Amino acid sequence: MSSIFSQIVAGDIPARVVYEDETTLAFLDANPLAPGHTLVIPKTEYERLNDVPDDVAGDLYATLHALVPAIEVAVDADASTVAFNNGEAAGQEVPHVHGHIIPRFSDDGGAPIHGIAGDPPGLEDDELDEIAAEIEAHV
Ligand code: AMP
Repeated sequence: MSSIFSQIVAGDIPARVVYEDETTLAFLDANPLAPGHTLVIPKTEYERLNDVPDDVAGDLYATLHALVPAIEVAVDADASTVAFNNGEAAGQEVPHVHGHIIPRFSDDGGAPIHGIAGDPPGLEDDELDEIAAEIEAHV
């Protein structure tokens, strides 16, 4: 069974498509958190960002990059929050990579991205050094 977003790519279910190229598709979120809330997906179904090949990752970013200013102008937004729920534990519900572009307005009552995680872990300098080294070693 293909994801609901693959069904949109195939044209089997409708969507308000705002941009399409060979490898990516963008359409309005069906339950918008703001006017212009848009999802950007790779046409090929990958569950997480971790699964996306480098060339498609570049295409995905290029589409986000083109759409952010277009959406802000279209809905007269002051800013935007751009984010991926990458994996179930992060709140991902549709197992097909999608970037959210959520237009933001100075009076929208929303929060910055800093508000989405749990309690801050309060890490010491040596722990931060160790984590940075671990990440660097795995890139
Ligand atoms: P996430 O929690 O990051 O997986 O977000 C999934 C998003 O997909 C939600 O914001 C839904 O409103 C949106 N969504 C689910 N089904 C559709 C659909 N058929 N067309 C457009 N957006 C959808």
